[in-house]
Amino acid sequence: MQPFDYARVESAAAAIESAATPGAAFIAGGTDLMQLLKEGAAAPRHLVDINHLPCSEIVLGQDGLRLGALARMSDVADHPEVRQRFPAVAQALLASASPQVRNMASIGGNLLQRTRCTYFRDRAMPCNKRAPGTGCSALEGDNRLHAIFGTSEHCVATHPSDLAVALVALDASVLVQGRGGERRIPMTEFHRMPGDAPERDTVLEPGELIVAVLVPACIAAARSHYLKIRDRASFEFALVSVAAGLQIYRGRVQEVRLAAGGVGTRPWRLGGAEDVLRGKAASAESYRAAAERAVEGAHPLAMNGFKVELLRRAVRRALAGAGELA
Ligand SMILES: Cc1cc2nc3c(=O)[nH]c(=O)nc-3n(C[C@H](O)[C@H](O)[C@H](O)COP(=O)(O)OP(=O)(O)OC[C@H]3O[C@@H](n4cnc5c(N)ncnc54)[C@H](O)[C@@H]3O)c2cc1C
Ligand code: SF4
Repeated sequence: MQPFDYARVESAAAAIESAATPGAAFIAGGTDLMQLLKEGAAAPRHLVDINHLPCSEIVLGQDGLRLGALARMSDVADHPEVRQRFPAVAQALLASASPQVRNMASIGGNLLQRTRCTYFRDRAMPCNKRAPGTGCSALEGDNRLHAIFGTSEHCVATHPSDLAVALVALDASVLVQGRGGERRIPMTEFHRMPGDAPERDTVLEPGELIVAVLVPACIAAARSHYLKIRDRASFEFALVSVAAGLQIYRGRVQEVRLAAGGVGTRPWRLGGAEDVLRGKAASAESYRAAAERAVEGAHPLAMNGFKVELLRRAVRRALAGAGELA
């Protein structure tokens, strides 16, 4: 492991200042970053410990939900009002990792965790995301768990966060602070597709700090559902997941929110499928039509063609789950 120095900061301003040091990285719960350090997939020279910043709030107002970047996954998942008004958020968190990891892991760190592509975490193998220009081992290698949307010839890795899928579906945004001030980034624009620069997962500038996540309140959010399908029942990342929210009035879909995980190089909003459903009867038939639209444009790799059918079925099931609440 490369040596690094460590600074504990007490304010956002001090964190941003400290992060201007070359080779700096923030550390929150450390549940991903420490693994990356040990695996040699990250080698920061200066760690900025942000755990003592006053950013752990979970605040519910009429407009919506504000989650401080340092709120712990378990605290958010267990919050009664989050469970009631944003069930997909609580369900996505509860379907993530293990109770021990959720007790440590923060909301900000969750959105910035790196991909679980095994080649990314294996220094012996070429990987454009870890070492730009070395190649992508997954293209001709084991790509069963990889993406079917948003891939490029440079990287086909999926984005791993469950929470991010729910947040993308619910039109959340990320509040960040940097040397240039504060800005608010819609979750649908926060994560990048790999293109020819897969080493950059998000649109964050170096040294920018996530301060909070904002989730607007709406009926579809209160009647949302998160479905995660994985190889084993717990402690496992998604093969395919779907966050669905529905507002139904007199049997017709007034509003719908849909996003998928485990299939895209970033959390994948299913806008076309939403368009198919809006204004239609809330029925198995229209859910099936939306599921057909959801898989349009998929580009499976040699080993992950099964994800197309799995996504189709997951969209139908997630919509049915949300429909029961509406
Ligand atoms: C065994 C295991 C299983 C898991 N399973 C799942 C799963 O099923 N689903 C899932 O979604 N996740 C899963 N995870 C991932 C886990 O949720 C993340 O490791 C965790 O959320 C990261 O949060 P953290 O606070 O520990 O981040 P850290 O490890 O501290 O940081 C992660 C990254 O975020 C950056 N960072 C942290 N906070 C900020 C901030 N406020 N502003 C700017 N940058 C910041 C750090 O610099 C680092 O790059 C699993 C993890 C483990 C270890
Ligand atoms: S899919 Fe991406 S992360 Fe995986 S080996 Fe290829 S470049 Fe690396």
